[in-house]
Amino acid sequence: MSQKLVVVIGAGVVGASVALSLQRDGHNVTVIDRSGPAAGASFGNAGAIVNGSCAPTAMPGIVRDVLRMMLRPLPPLSIRAAYLPRILPWLLRFAAASRRSRVNQIATDLHALTATAVEAWRELSKGTSLDALLATGGWLKVYETEASFTATATARELLDAAGTPYELLAAGDIQDLEPHLAPIYRRAIWQSDGLRIVNPGRMVEEMVRLLAAGGGIFQLGDVSAVEPDADGASVRLTDGATLRADRVVVAAGAWSRPLAQALGDRIPLDTERGYHLMLPAGTEALLGRTVLNADHSFVLSPMETGLRMTSQVELAGVEAPPDYRRIRSLLPLAKRMLPAVDASEASVWMGCRPSLPDSLPVIGRCGRSPNVIYAFGHQHLGMTLGPVTGRLIADLVAGRSPRLDLSPYRPDRW
Ligand SMILES: Cc1cc2nc3c(=O)[nH]c(=O)nc-3n(C[C@H](O)[C@H](O)[C@H](O)COP(=O)(O)OP(=O)(O)OC[C@H]3O[C@@H](n4cnc5c(N)ncnc54)[C@H](O)[C@@H]3O)c2cc1C
Repeated sequence: MSQKLVVVIGAGVVGASVALSLQRDGHNVTVIDRSGPAAGASFGNAGAIVNGSCAPTAMPGIVRDVLRMMLRPLPPLSIRAAYLPRILPWLLRFAAASRRSRVNQIATDLHALTATAVEAWRELSKGTSLDALLATGGWLKVYETEASFTATATARELLDAAGTPYELLAAGDIQDLEPHLAPIYRRAIWQSDGLRIVNPGRMVEEMVRLLAAGGGIFQLGDVSAVEPDADGASVRLTDGATLRADRVVVAAGAWSRPLAQALGDRIPLDTERGYHLMLPAGTEALLGRTVLNADHSFVLSPMETGLRMTSQVELAGVEAPPDYRRIRSLLPLAKRMLPAVDASEASVWMGCRPSLPDSLPVIGRCGRSPNVIYAFGHQHLGMTLGPVTGRLIADLVAGRSPRLDLSPYRPDRW
């Protein structure tokens, strides 16, 4: 295989994973980011690596559920009125993707990626400093009422059809597993083979540091355009500078759409914004794994610096200022869930999940030129799928037949 000069745009988990995979294949890699490593969604997420995850965001009945949710004062899913006209075409595609026949196919295509998530993270981290930032424990979803558990029937059918292992737990088992949880949860679903990243921001910084230690380059720069030609592509920066490469990978998360559009690919990428609130240092000792409070749609993740509460899907575009009211409103519910917790705010954050209406990422070549490759749109599963995506992009750059059929993720599927 010939050694290539590759520029990766974006130093989130996807760009950093792609860069490390390419470097391991022997290529010369430069990662460029306008704000530094882990400046986007990869900084403040819940850090769960959910092996075999396959339920898309748009599940059957989602339209009815969203309308019902909107009646609540601070709903877990919100649409800013000013953004509604911009997001409407995305929402119509999202609603269309929630048909049962589509959901079954999307679940199959998501599972094809997530089935090897843990293996890909283990392969990437083995023998490196990344290993210390991975912990076991899996992904536990807890349900207070029988009704909220029953509402997961379709999601469980999808897991069963995909062959994703999980355990159903009753009240006593939940207490045994997580003794600090209030004894109010009647049911739980536990995917025990998942991993968790104890500091997602530090993980991505460490990945970029490893790249540099191996001879790769990290460069600060704001990319305004990618211009392919017969031999490779030029990356133009807003300060007037240009970088030449044999291949360019666009991994700019929720900001990838204008770069692809200028290349002639109209991809309906938008953002589902999400929030976190850090509880004080020491609170992380109260949980042994990532726990989803399904009744109130928030996650508590034990991080190295305290418990992290994450929540919300906010459709407001990448520009609107954050609104921390909803995440703050969840503090009493965190206390109800974990009575021993110090439920005070250490810090808050907002990040932009890069999302396509069909819950699948874009992984494939630009329509105009095989020298430009896309890797974005990993929605709620970017931390899970970073290394899986890195391996697939390395296959494309090497000209190898990819280890998966990439047609479900192709950029021209709309
Ligand atoms: C609240 C919340 C909780 C989540 N929890 C989980 C979870 O538990 N598990 C999971 O798997 N996923 C989770 N996710 C999703 C996950 O965080 C994202 O899918 C993932 O971080 C996306 O990574 P990325 O590299 O594509 O994008 P980003 O991390 O957003 O990185 C994109 C980078 O591109 C740079 N960039 C953009 N435009 C340009 C440009 N023109 N020039 C140069 N640089 C540019 C940005 O500065 C940024 O650093 C969560 C997300 C949120 C918001």
